Amino acid sequence: MNSSADESTTCARGGWSADFATRPSNPPIYQTTAFDLEGLEQLDAVSSGEQHGYIYTRDGNPNHAAFAADVAALERADSGAVMASGMAAISAILLSHLKTGDHVMAARVLYGRTWQLLADLQRAFGIEVSFFDANDLNDVRSAIRPATKLCVVESISNPLVEVIDLPAIAELLGEIPVVVDNTFATPCLFRPLEYGAKLVFHSASKYLNGHGDVMLGVVAGERVALTKTRRVAALYGFNAQPFECWLASRGMRTLPLRMRRVSESAQQVAEFLAQHSAVSRVFYPGLKTHPSHQLAQRFLPQGFGGMLSFELKSGVSGVRPVFQALAHTLPFSPTLADARTTISYPAGTSHKFLSAEERRTYGISDALIRVSIGLEEPTDLIRELDASLRLQH
Ligand SMILES: *Cc1c(COP(=O)(O)O)cnc(C)c1O
Repeated sequence: MNSSADESTTCARGGWSADFATRPSNPPIYQTTAFDLEGLEQLDAVSSGEQHGYIYTRDGNPNHAAFAADVAALERADSGAVMASGMAAISAILLSHLKTGDHVMAARVLYGRTWQLLADLQRAFGIEVSFFDANDLNDVRSAIRPATKLCVVESISNPLVEVIDLPAIAELLGEIPVVVDNTFATPCLFRPLEYGAKLVFHSASKYLNGHGDVMLGVVAGERVALTKTRRVAALYGFNAQPFECWLASRGMRTLPLRMRRVSESAQQVAEFLAQHSAVSRVFYPGLKTHPSHQLAQRFLPQGFGGMLSFELKSGVSGVRPVFQALAHTLPFSPTLADARTTISYPAGTSHKFLSAEERRTYGISDALIRVSIGLEEPTDLIRELDASLRLQH
């Protein structure tokens, strides 16, 4: 695959090649546990990589390869590997890079389960974990220890949609690998490997698939680091299902169009909310008032993505009526990046694991509502949001 092709070209064509005499225009689903082999010689040749082929779906399958190739091409990576979920992807990265006594540093505002996973590794395996404020380079610098083996950040954070200065962070870390969760940005908006990251991973359950019907994760990056991660994934059984990969490959074909659309709509919705009398604050990197606006302009020239959040002036008591009013138009759904717009409540879902005090320190208010903008006509979204907010008066 030509890795310098435009992302719309890469996505439209898909990274698969038929290996049969007939030529199906789209990939079949290889719903098989194993692949028959001619004999022991072929087993050796395929295992060593001398001959192209597959042995057992836990270790590899053509549907895995097709999806991983698309993501690797978009991320400008040497190689990609699929996993059963975004959590399987980060688990495989952590388990392949850390051992007892090592230190891992991570941004303090992280996807909730990633935060919990790090705490669990500390408890179960004696891996040291510490958290830093990704907006403060001095804090990043002082978090580095002699035993630091890995740094984990999100390119765009949840739920305040803050954009990191990845080149500055990677420079401070030097030889220590930086791993980036690029789920919110997607490679259409930001490619972490071009800014100093060693590995990038996604919850492909979100934008890459984009239709709210798949659980899948993917890692892309430098070949040697990825070989270690792939080995751990196969050993621990983090493998993806062929059908999930097939669906995600299909979803990816429209990724560039979807990212453009949600970025445009989110900007319009954010501007509408920013002037609304029932709203006290809006977090969207496309707004001049957002603390990351300048970084976003520098790193996200193609668009600021489809995630935004806003705080109600009425405080926490206003949250329930808004969710009720929107239940059949912009439903509460504890995921994001579906084709339709959904809303979520960070203090009660993704960031429930933090103490109220921590949430306050990090700026995550109890009156904060997160919106994942979908593919609807933005004026419809604005009308529906407006109707739900009018009930606040
Ligand atoms: C959803 C999500 C994950 C976890 O991915 P799953 O596919 O749900 O396991 C990790 N990071 C971010 C930013 C996410 O939104």
